Amino acid sequence: MTHQHPISISVKELSVKYQNIMALRQVTFDIRRGARVAIVGPNGAGKSTLFKAIAGTLKAQQGEIKLFGENPLEHACVAYLPQRSQIDLNFPVNVTDVVMMGRVGKMGILRWPSRADRDLVATSLESVGMTQFATRHISELSGGQLQRVFIARAIAQKAEIVLMDEPLTGLDITSQSDIYGILDKLREHKVTVLVATHDLNQAAERFDAVMLLNKQLVGFGLPTTVFTPLLLQQAYGGTMQFIETTNGQTALIRN
Ligand code: ADP
Ligand code: MG
Repeated sequence: MTHQHPISISVKELSVKYQNIMALRQVTFDIRRGARVAIVGPNGAGKSTLFKAIAGTLKAQQGEIKLFGENPLEHACVAYLPQRSQIDLNFPVNVTDVVMMGRVGKMGILRWPSRADRDLVATSLESVGMTQFATRHISELSGGQLQRVFIARAIAQKAEIVLMDEPLTGLDITSQSDIYGILDKLREHKVTVLVATHDLNQAAERFDAVMLLNKQLVGFGLPTTVFTPLLLQQAYGGTMQFIETTNGQTALIRN
């Protein structure tokens, strides 16, 4: 089922605490269906925590998350693509197995893949250009190929919201462009995509909106209104300085 509600993710007054660490404080925003949003903020800003809360793998102490106007537990339409550092590449699975996880999902081994599942896995791999790697073990993929496999899993899952946790970190420019090309296809299908990234330039150029996060929501909207010296200073603190470039834009240098 495809949801038609115009707001795909609605977060109200969300606070998340780990033991004594406040990871997110009173975060509120709405994201419209089909938008591509960059989540930007320093290490420890709560980007991964926000994704886990939206994906429902982590419980918020306070606040409310609605997906397409409804409670998240009622939907399996969210795909969370973990940070590479959180993936166990020694896990004995090949590319097809990983994409099939998008079909069998929470049912795990209790559900045997059907012919339709296998067909969907094949077309998903095709749409990210990974057909020829179908039987390859995941430890034998480049960073860019691994991201494409995870996107294929999200496609197989028929995800309507895709949360990508620093998918571009460590990838070369060509691999990054490939990923954006695939994200363009998702956009055509009105899939909402959130990407955590450290690249402010790409965030400004390749996204509909940017979210500046540092435990609190520092700014959210068009890059021109969010990436101001004042707000960047609020998000990144004193560890940075600014220069005015010739075209009048502010560049950020992190020390
Ligand atoms: P980001 O992804 O922006 O780097 P995280 O969401 O991973 O930020 O972390 C936010 C804060 O919460 C950090 O201070 C981090 O150390 C802390 N944190 C994250 N996960 C845990 C956890 N499982 N237990 C305790 N503290 C955590
Ligand atoms: Mg993180």
